[in-house]
Amino acid sequence: MIDEKLFKLSPEGLSLIDRKKALDSYIGHVDCQSKHFLGYQNVQTLNYEEDIKGFLNFHINNIGDPFVSGNYTPNSKAIERAVLDYYAKLWNAKTPHDFKNPESYWGYALTMGSTEGNLYGIWNARDYLAGKRLLIDNGNEYKTRKHRTKYIHALPVEGNPNAYTPVAFFSEDTHYSIIKAMRVLQVPTFYDIGKKFYSGQNPLNSTGEWTKEFFEVPSLNGNGGPGAIDVEKLTILVEFFASKGYPILLCCNYGTTFKGAYDDVKLIGEKLMPIFEKYGLVNRGVIYDEEGHSDVRNGYWIHVDGALGASYMPFLEMAYKQGKIDSCGPIFDFRLPFVNSIVTSGHKWIGTPWPCGIFMTKVKYQLVPPDAPEYIGSPDTTFAGSRNGLSPVLIWDFLAQNSYETLINRAVRCENLADYAEEQLKIIQEYHPEIDLFVERTPLALTVRFRKPNDKIVYKHSLSCETLLINDEERHYAHIFTMDSVTKEVIDEFISELKQPDAFDTGEKPAKGLKGVLQKAVFLSERGRGWR
Ligand SMILES: *Cc1c(COP(=O)(O)O)cnc(C)c1O
Repeated sequence: MIDEKLFKLSPEGLSLIDRKKALDSYIGHVDCQSKHFLGYQNVQTLNYEEDIKGFLNFHINNIGDPFVSGNYTPNSKAIERAVLDYYAKLWNAKTPHDFKNPESYWGYALTMGSTEGNLYGIWNARDYLAGKRLLIDNGNEYKTRKHRTKYIHALPVEGNPNAYTPVAFFSEDTHYSIIKAMRVLQVPTFYDIGKKFYSGQNPLNSTGEWTKEFFEVPSLNGNGGPGAIDVEKLTILVEFFASKGYPILLCCNYGTTFKGAYDDVKLIGEKLMPIFEKYGLVNRGVIYDEEGHSDVRNGYWIHVDGALGASYMPFLEMAYKQGKIDSCGPIFDFRLPFVNSIVTSGHKWIGTPWPCGIFMTKVKYQLVPPDAPEYIGSPDTTFAGSRNGLSPVLIWDFLAQNSYETLINRAVRCENLADYAEEQLKIIQEYHPEIDLFVERTPLALTVRFRKPNDKIVYKHSLSCETLLINDEERHYAHIFTMDSVTKEVIDEFISELKQPDAFDTGEKPAKGLKGVLQKAVFLSERGRGWR
């Protein structure tokens, strides 16, 4: 436990001794908590100190576009580009990045985690679908000075008032950052539009009503299921809105936060492409400015939120091809021509001391940035202004030290450890015959979920908890992630704690309070998401 008094700042600052004492106590806390850490998809045993300490006394900032160095020269953009190239190859995008080649990849290293990548991806998707001006239409010219503060987008289409109103689809297991992005960017979901304009016409409900089960796209078998999106239901919903002339914005999950499920992106594309064809959403003509300039682009966008899975599954796929494991997840990357953007976090599978990540798309989908600030000498094509220049150095350092071979073995080891944890947790059930421990694991997930244990255990292992609504019953779950820093010994210790008679509080009341209020206020389910 931390003594907060140690950290109180005063106008005089702290003496060297007091400062040292305070810092040491905090490091002691972090060190202790990280040793038993099981609850989130982060790695706790990092080894960057030696390589990175030399950078810590500089301000390294990658402000602006990664491919244009700009006037802020203490940057790490050359290293960032090496990292981006690595991911472009890993995700089968067209390399190298070339701003004159519309098919080639473009991306950047995030300053936040996947939250920023989701925000950026959905922003890009919204404006692409709303018919804003593309970079390739601008002769790859970033300068829009004459348009500064002017938000140019497509003119209304005769006969289809919905042509430039993107509608968002995502499953009930989606991470809260997607919900937040939709709100920030004011992208309506299919529920918002359905409820407002198509009352009594919900194609998934026999009554036609847009009830709370349709806040989001249902997952397979709902809250009690494995956590992947129900592709059949998604297809029906998408067809309904495509037939009304709306462009479609779909966010897929690749490794959901709580259950670790992989949406079948390949199957989704196979089901949706014929619908997109049928309703004129493939290669549609868009008149994007008042002068009548036009281009041809798609009326759909498929974004893949691969915060954990997009970093990790490529190696599991390689392991599968080498016969080291029996199966791997569905294809999600740029081998699928209908994938528009992918995001992953650096601090999850790889492990970095702070949040970071990668966003990737293709040159042909890039928009002209809102402004062209001469000040930074580099196009303002990213979300943040100042960007963390140390993050790409860390990711680079990791990738330079770990071959594909090492990472394949690491993926297999983590997968085997999840198998082991699942098996052990199922044995625990015998120690508590009177209560159902709900031990479940989605195939290939690095996480196992089970009944939430007592608060002491939750704190010791930093367990994240989640309430799932299964057949109208609120069940309190926790989960563990078998990331690279987790050892069999930590799992064994955890399992022995769970064998104790008082390990699980029973008869607890469902959390009341804000729940009902929030649900009403945001019209969105807050079930099925971790990190709260
Ligand atoms: C963790 C996570 C995010 C957000 O990542 P941050 O790094 O917390 O911004 C987004 N999507 C999924 C599926 C996640 O698991």
